[in-house]
Amino acid sequence: MGQWENYPEIREAVAKLCTRFPGEYWRKLDRDHIYPTEFVQSLSESGYLSVMIPEEYGGVGLPLGAACAVLEEIQRAGCNGGACHAQMYTMGTVLRHGSDEQKQKYLPRIAAGELRLQAFGVTEPGSGTDTTRIRTRAVRDGDDYVVNGQKVFISRTEHSDLMVLLVRTTAREDCEKRTDGMSVLLVDMREALDNGMTIAPIRTMMNHASTELFFDNMRVPVANLIGEEGKGFRYILDGMNAERILIAAECIGDARYFVEKASSYAIEREVFGRPIGQNQGVQFPIARAHIQTEAAAAMVRQATTLYEAGEPCGSEANMAKMLGSEASWLAGDTCIQTHGGYGFAEEYDVERKFRETRLYQVAPISTNLILSHVATHDLGLPKSF
Ligand SMILES: Cc1cc2nc3c(=O)[nH]c(=O)nc-3n(C[C@H](O)[C@H](O)[C@H](O)COP(=O)(O)OP(=O)(O)OC[C@H]3O[C@@H](n4cnc5c(N)ncnc54)[C@H](O)[C@@H]3O)c2cc1C
Repeated sequence: MGQWENYPEIREAVAKLCTRFPGEYWRKLDRDHIYPTEFVQSLSESGYLSVMIPEEYGGVGLPLGAACAVLEEIQRAGCNGGACHAQMYTMGTVLRHGSDEQKQKYLPRIAAGELRLQAFGVTEPGSGTDTTRIRTRAVRDGDDYVVNGQKVFISRTEHSDLMVLLVRTTAREDCEKRTDGMSVLLVDMREALDNGMTIAPIRTMMNHASTELFFDNMRVPVANLIGEEGKGFRYILDGMNAERILIAAECIGDARYFVEKASSYAIEREVFGRPIGQNQGVQFPIARAHIQTEAAAAMVRQATTLYEAGEPCGSEANMAKMLGSEASWLAGDTCIQTHGGYGFAEEYDVERKFRETRLYQVAPISTNLILSHVATHDLGLPKSF
């Protein structure tokens, strides 16, 4: 462990748990796009997915840095936290904005691993990154909302008991501000499935359990509205910094996996009668990937420190996510190059991790949107949208 690596006991324990899920396990699931149920169950049972849930609701009550350590070690061990990371940040929406009753009802059961809150439904085909244009509409009817619309690329919906869903309760045209009129509903997936909600899997280049959701008069009790009606966009924004920092930590884990794998291969593999890593043409790219990983990790730590202190950290969270996703991509590319032809062979796991880590330059927010945030918020450049 490096000198900067906090929570050494958690890191060690997570790394140990991950040894039970070697490359062979992930390769098999990847081929058939099967969800890693046993892996997620083990993490839940060990309490790692609920480290941030306060003790009064049955969690461990640790700060964001602990959750970052968990996700980083999962990725560094060659596993895939994408199967379950949402629980860590989605839970925050209920914790920060839910009523006492909702918190009592859901959080202890989430902490105990009895309820899975793995799905977070924002993206729609017609709105893309411009969330204010979502069209999924919830109309009040007695004690229920009646929901109609569609979501796309929503991960893990088939493996989640609950979903945090962003809907419009007032049409955009009828709102003073375009960010008004959206609300957050907690959908019980077990009740909703085939009862107003249909799930259609989307096959993607990696095993990510992505789906499309269709709502046709799906009824959600008004009791499941989180916070106030019409303020949902603000609640979702509130959770985004934590989400970005956690994803950045995953990227650091991926990058370290690639750097470590490339280094050990470059030491072992002999060509022209010497280790390939003795050639500077092979060792320099690995050193560069390592340097970029450490720089990104420093930004993740800075963003985490600000977040934990309750300070504004929007720019730092965005920068951490962008630098992390670019460091892991560079490290992945370097790892493939170091392995030569073997980098493309499934059994080396590099190509699988390479596909998996590519996602983070697009989701949960794409690099251009981060650049736009920094350009307009930090540098005062004119807004383009
Ligand atoms: C595997 C996977 C899992 C996902 N999981 C979830 C999930 O669980 N829940 C959820 O809600 N969403 C999820 N998403 C959706 C993801 O958050 C979006 O794909 C992402 O935010 C980009 O939105 P989009 O695909 O609509 O791209 P678009 O908004 O159509 O953008 C396309 C490209 O154009 C660029 N672009 C757009 N507008 C501008 C501009 N003004 N200036 C410069 N560039 C611009 C973008 O940066 C992007 O590169 C997932 C996506 C994937 C692929």
